[in-house]
Amino acid sequence: AGVKGTNSERTFIAIKPDGTQRGLVGKVITRFEERGYKLVGLKAIAPSKELAELHYDDLKARPFFAGLVKYISSGTPVIAMVWEGKDVIRQGRAMIGATNPLESAPGSIRGQYCISVGRNIIHGSDCFEAAEKEINLWFGKAGELIDWTPANVEWIQ
Ligand code: ADP
Ligand code: MG
Repeated sequence: AGVKGTNSERTFIAIKPDGTQRGLVGKVITRFEERGYKLVGLKAIAPSKELAELHYDDLKARPFFAGLVKYISSGTPVIAMVWEGKDVIRQGRAMIGATNPLESAPGSIRGQYCISVGRNIIHGSDCFEAAEKEINLWFGKAGELIDWTPANVEWIQ
């Protein structure tokens, strides 16, 4: 997941099928771009059941696991992304907001667009180890992530 604690830290962000269906892809991308992050990987993918299970394997004992996997692997595309920049893992979680929309701050992505925990439109890695695992899982093939230089780098420090 890039180098932890540097400007090249990376996180895995995914718009879930309900976010795609509701046409929220552009709004999510805009928030990350405008915050100052760099998009280094992006693809639309209809995940298999196996991929969804691996992604959420830490939740397999939970009662909602089967429904969660079915929702993620429904066939509607997940928009899988890798975003890079300073503190992007923690900032990404803050921008997304709390898991349960009843607790997500109104200005956060979930706080603006969601009312149901089971349809909360977006995923973000919750720590460096999770980011590493998830980036490898979703972007395992060589060449899928690109290192590039934005035009306006002067303000970054
Ligand atoms: P987060 O996505 O904020 O990291 P978790 O890792 O705890 O949250 O859960 C993963 C996903 O599982 C949630 O984003 C949500 O889609 C789903 N989920 C969590 N809790 C519930 C629940 N009580 N009922 C239905 N789905 C849930
Ligand atoms: Mg989680």
